[in-house]
Amino acid sequence: MRKKVIAGNWKMNKVLSEANQFVDDVAGKVPNSDNVEAIVCAPFPFLATLVEKTKGTSLKVSAQNMHFEDNGAFTGEVSPVMLKDLGVTHVVLGHSERREYFAETDETVNKKAHAAFKHDLTPIVCVGETLEQREANETKGLVESQVKRALDGLSDDQITQTIIAYEPVWAIGTGKTASSEDANEVCSHIRNVVKEITSEAVAEKVVIQYGGSVKPTNVDELLAQSDIDGALVGGASLEAESFLQLVEAGV
Ligand code: 13P
Repeated sequence: MRKKVIAGNWKMNKVLSEANQFVDDVAGKVPNSDNVEAIVCAPFPFLATLVEKTKGTSLKVSAQNMHFEDNGAFTGEVSPVMLKDLGVTHVVLGHSERREYFAETDETVNKKAHAAFKHDLTPIVCVGETLEQREANETKGLVESQVKRALDGLSDDQITQTIIAYEPVWAIGTGKTASSEDANEVCSHIRNVVKEITSEAVAEKVVIQYGGSVKPTNVDELLAQSDIDGALVGGASLEAESFLQLVEAGV
């Protein structure tokens, strides 16, 4: 049985006092369960404080991006060494907003995935098609190529630990969710791709999330699907109560 992973991606929202309040309200209520893992993906300036505040709780803290180099002349960037040193456990890689606005490519996502494992961080690798690509019937081919390129050169063991998030771009922040059947069909395709590049045993273990307008009202149906092992949630993860409802749905 794969555990359900519920990750709240705050994106560029909140100030420090709000982030602290959220964690004060949530961290102690996250169940200590083998069935569910709860993660907040917070902006860089909050990470150190949030890691401290979540110590001894079941809430994990993730970054939303990082550079692939350990250190050096990369003004404005944050390295995996820095994240690991803070006690961050996860990092989101290749979110569609990074791909669209910040020139993230499959190649940089792959370099970052290798860098994450080098420093013992768990990558949450995002893939997904635009509306144009969906309408042109390119979804499966595109997602397959994104997954293969992101995971290129990783060992089977590393791929087993990778969290893959399927986020159709047209469903992000739009209120339009992929139907649970459509979302499951793509997640199941991703699992087959993982099987093709590794083995059935790895494919059966890898966690595949769905993301795109997930809310407390639609999460149960999504999580009930055979190949959806969690959710990467934007808007509905910003309020403590709604985030906790999403986590509860995963238990
Ligand atoms: P929404 O849940 O706001 O649609 O955002 C999804 C997302 O991009 C999470 O990474």
